[in-house]
Amino acid sequence: MFIDGKWVDARSGRTFDVTDPATGEVIGSVPDGDADDAHAAVTAADAAFGSWSTTTAHERADLLYRTWELLRSRSEELARLMTREQGKPLKASTAEVAYAGEFLRFYAEEATRVTGEWRPSARADQRFLVLRQPVGVAAMITPWNYPISMLTRKMAPALAAGCTLVLKPAESTPLCAKAVFELFEEAGVPAGVVNLVTAEQPAPIGDVFTSDRRVRKLTFTGSTEVGRRLAGRATSNLKRVSVELGGHAPFIVFPDADPVRAAKGAAALKFLNAGQACISPNRLYVSKEHEDAFLGTMVERVSRIRAGNGFDDGVGVGPLVNEAAVAKVADHVDDAVRKGADALVGGHRLVDEPYDRGHFYAPTLLSGVRDDMKIHHEETFGPVAPVITYDDVHDVIGLANDTDYGLAAYVYTNDLGTAFRALEGLRFGIIGVNDVNPTSASVPFGGMQDSGIGREGSHDGISEYLETKVAAFAL
Ligand code: ADP
Repeated sequence: MFIDGKWVDARSGRTFDVTDPATGEVIGSVPDGDADDAHAAVTAADAAFGSWSTTTAHERADLLYRTWELLRSRSEELARLMTREQGKPLKASTAEVAYAGEFLRFYAEEATRVTGEWRPSARADQRFLVLRQPVGVAAMITPWNYPISMLTRKMAPALAAGCTLVLKPAESTPLCAKAVFELFEEAGVPAGVVNLVTAEQPAPIGDVFTSDRRVRKLTFTGSTEVGRRLAGRATSNLKRVSVELGGHAPFIVFPDADPVRAAKGAAALKFLNAGQACISPNRLYVSKEHEDAFLGTMVERVSRIRAGNGFDDGVGVGPLVNEAAVAKVADHVDDAVRKGADALVGGHRLVDEPYDRGHFYAPTLLSGVRDDMKIHHEETFGPVAPVITYDDVHDVIGLANDTDYGLAAYVYTNDLGTAFRALEGLRFGIIGVNDVNPTSASVPFGGMQDSGIGREGSHDGISEYLETKVAAFAL
């Protein structure tokens, strides 16, 4: 763990192993921290806050630029580590490392754009100044599905704002987190400004993050269930909170869309990260007249996607994170098929050699999905594309909105009016229009309803780490 500028063991001396999800092989071990370690990390972050928050924006920007340059120079090594630890194909890991770098660069730039304002007063002898200052120690909990970019997306804006931080990564991907902290260390981050606590049992660390008075902000990315609980505790202690949670993205192919283009987009998008993404499409609504063309192209594309070890050439889908993830996917698919869906491609686990030691599920295409199936409303987090055919275009926005989640949505149409009506009518934070890559460091990422609170990326993302202060001057 990295606490107060030093690499340290857990106070208990315990460690836990990290495994490769494709082979089951142990690839490393890390300290198994507990509440004592988390408190020590908060103490270090709190002690460093005074000096870090009063550095110039330029000094903070320089640190982020240096970290970005180091990340770029190591991108191959980092991508290989990610594929080994998380499983995604090497090409996808390389893309994620670049995406992670974009947050470092963007917030290096944004650090120098935190400004204040003069505001008018009703009194002639009064002036108001509004300024923004760092909230204090930020506690961060990150997931395993994007084990490097989810860290920089939180750390970069916090550091740019002048916050210090304590981060607990997911227990299945602590080595990627360690690699990110090594970059910051090498870039010269002062002791105590960034602190890393690894733990096999996350709950005691979460308790410290949500209750220690010195923590002023909690940022979490993960499941809705855990996020809801942590956000509840943190807000009851009046900490600022942002949580980026689950999703159940609709993907709508309108009657005025090109169904082949839409199917190509869906096939490319759905299987990214083996479907383990909160913005992965979970309900593909296809207008009746496009059903054949859409499914025909999907069958062809999905049949070609090869599952396997992310290091092997031509592999498009890696392993899932663990056995529980495979069991959930199998349960959703079996339930759908039992209730009448057709598995046009896949529909089963991959258990024979060379899959037998890892956690694999075949890339799957389901047609005839209906609203009484689990897959229709629960987040599957796996390589399954569930297609729902609809008859009446007037219903489809309502169908798409029929979820407690509200993160991403996708629409395919060749009509500007249809696109605008969809954009305005869909209750989701991120909308792709004929586009399957609706994210960037320069735009806000986040959802509505059960998908969370707050935004990451862009200038919205840095606001999450800033307090507003007003000063009134009598002349
Ligand atoms: P997923 O289902 O994607 O693994 P989780 O919400 O379980 O989602 O995990 C996301 C992050 O939340 C991980 O870093 C995990 O360790 C952490 N986490 C899970 N449970 C708790 C908890 N009770 N307290 C604090 N962190 C937790």
